[in-house]
Amino acid sequence: MYSFVQDGDKYVVSIDNHEEVVAALAAFCEKQGILAGEVSGIGAVNSATLRFLDPATKKYVDKTFDEQMEISSLVGNISEKDGKPYLHLHANFGRRDYTVVGGHLLCCTLNGACELVVTKFHCKVGRRFEPSLGLNLYDF
Ligand code: FE
Repeated sequence: MYSFVQDGDKYVVSIDNHEEVVAALAAFCEKQGILAGEVSGIGAVNSATLRFLDPATKKYVDKTFDEQMEISSLVGNISEKDGKPYLHLHANFGRRDYTVVGGHLLCCTLNGACELVVTKFHCKVGRRFEPSLGLNLYDF
C-alpha cells in the first residue's frame, strides 16, 4: 500500500501505484500512531473527487474528475477524532491543458506516483462538529 522512511518526527512516504491516496495515508497514520501533524505532497492520478462546502446549505457538493492529472500540490493536516487519525486534505490537480482544478480532497487514485512528507506533532489536536458551520473544527 505504501513504503516509507522515518527521520525523527518526519516521514517520507511513497504510496503504491493505483492506490487510493486518502485511504492509504489514513492507514499509514493509524499504523504509525500519528494523531496530529501535517502533510504535503505531489504525484499523479487518473481520478480525483473534490468537495465544495456550500455555506448556504452546509452540505458538500462532490465532483469527480476522471482524467490523468498531476497532483501539483497536496497539503493538509492530521488531527484526532473518535480516537483515530482524521485527515483534512486539500489538493490542486494539473490537467493535460495545464489548467488546474482544486479543492477539499475526498479521494484520488494514483496513476504514477505519490510522494508525501508527513510531520508528526506530539500535542493533542482534536475535532468537534460545529453545527452552525457544518464543519469539524479544531478542538484544543
Ligand atoms: Fe476542507
